[in-house]
Amino acid sequence: MNPKTVAAIESPADIETLQHYIGGARVDGGGGRFGDVYNPALGRVAKRVPLASQAEVAGAVTVAAEAFPAWAATPAGKRAQVMFNFRDLIRRRMDELARLVSEEHGKTLDDARGSITRGLEVVEFACGIPQLLKGEYSDSVAAGVDSWSMRQPLGVCAGITPFNFPAMVPMWMFPIAVACGNTFVLKPSEKDPSCGLRLAELMTEAGLPDGVLNVVNGDKEAVDALLTDSRVQGVSFVGSTAIGEYIYQTGCAHGKRVQALCGAKNHMVVMPDADLAQAADAVIGAAYGSAGERCMAVSVVVAVGDDAGDKLVGLIKPRVAALKVGPFDDPAAEMGPVVTPAAKARIENYIDQGVAEGAELVLDGRGCAVPGYADGCFVGGTIFDRVTPGMSIYRDEIFGPVLSIVRAGSFDEALQLVNAHEYGNGAAIFTRDGDAAREFVQRAKIGMVGVNVPIPVPLAYHSFGGWKRSLFGDHHIHGPEGVRFYTRMKTVTTRWPSGIREGAVFNFKAGGEH
Ligand code: NAD
Repeated sequence: MNPKTVAAIESPADIETLQHYIGGARVDGGGGRFGDVYNPALGRVAKRVPLASQAEVAGAVTVAAEAFPAWAATPAGKRAQVMFNFRDLIRRRMDELARLVSEEHGKTLDDARGSITRGLEVVEFACGIPQLLKGEYSDSVAAGVDSWSMRQPLGVCAGITPFNFPAMVPMWMFPIAVACGNTFVLKPSEKDPSCGLRLAELMTEAGLPDGVLNVVNGDKEAVDALLTDSRVQGVSFVGSTAIGEYIYQTGCAHGKRVQALCGAKNHMVVMPDADLAQAADAVIGAAYGSAGERCMAVSVVVAVGDDAGDKLVGLIKPRVAALKVGPFDDPAAEMGPVVTPAAKARIENYIDQGVAEGAELVLDGRGCAVPGYADGCFVGGTIFDRVTPGMSIYRDEIFGPVLSIVRAGSFDEALQLVNAHEYGNGAAIFTRDGDAAREFVQRAKIGMVGVNVPIPVPLAYHSFGGWKRSLFGDHHIHGPEGVRFYTRMKTVTTRWPSGIREGAVFNFKAGGEH
């Protein structure tokens, strides 16, 4: 494979400087600080991204606040029309967008296309906004009195997104927020910001008025500016737990509605009666797809019974060893690099710790070499067996292609492990036993549960979110919960002059009397 086929950077002069997108136009960064954006396959800095100052963020919020009244007053059907146009543009630009994702994130083009399609489904959901915003109506709640409810937008909302889905996660947020009549400031991950900028441009092309969707690039300074600006009404965050907890607490302390979707350690329980070939297929895709950089990746297999554990290890080891690791544009690659040299070092450090803590290293992905990409951020598929709950590789989210296998003696022991873990994003059970499956679904303290489905990601018209320290806030994201998050309920009670007069009323009356 010729390295030149990955947008190779030959000299610092080739390094592109990215911008912000404010008021319907690309705007140069003026804060004087920049972050590095890598080409992960080459392990080299390929672009630099401006890190917005507090003043630049305040400027973007001003633009969004000014755009709000007119956009909120635009009929929902017209807002939906922009979404229909946006949907068409994404479909036409799919390859361009996938390439932007892959160049900066590293995931294979096929995987990038899949993730954009999942975001597109949220756009399609948002196309139905007139129906989704319909309220409820009760006539004659008292003589001559009617009552009805409606949902109104919050105002300026902000989205703070992670590196692992640079198209999909922003599309979990802004299409619904904007369709509901809000204006939006997106702060994408500074590790792969290009796709967020392009999506905002496409929204403008789709007919969105300037200032309704803005993108500021940045780091903690930009995020703090959004969290403390009194004009920002709602904040959606997706990222790691430590940062998410901070976002939730700081945003709430500043009077905002906040949803913070955070880290995960997703368990897949394999019962002795499971179809082990099916379970093995499931593990390969769910643990190693996107190099494990997915919040719904399976990172722990709990094998119930030693026989199931031994057989599963026997089935998956040769397949993981044979996984083809390569740059995103190698059509044969099944797994790309991880996002940055720092991420690679962090993951390899966890593998060192697993060995030091006494887990059995069945397959070692350290030092993974891809010909022609000596400095690439590649980590090979890694398997640890006989992992125990006290080990850091079990407790922590590694966010790389590292699978831990834990042996459990019974269903109850397996369920106890799932429930005792601090994270509660996803979990799955593989079994042929309906009772065991039902019991698992009922008792798992987990937001998204799969039965013989390894990555139980809800579709766009359901809502996505975890329990425990995988989510701070009251709302899951996208789907019906997304509409609730981005709107406030108002209930109106009306009486028209009709000759019915009851004089001044000073006391509460029983239901139905006004
Ligand atoms: P991250 O927490 O490092 O970054 C997320 C966002 O927060 C970025 O925009 C970043 O600029 C910002 N940020 C980083 N440090 C900050 C600070 N000190 N103060 C304020 N803002 C800060 O997460 P990441 O590494 O980009 O993404 C991976 C994480 O995201 C994993 O933990 C993964 O599980 C999680 N994730 C969760 C979901 C979910 O739905 N639960 C989905 C995707 C990813």
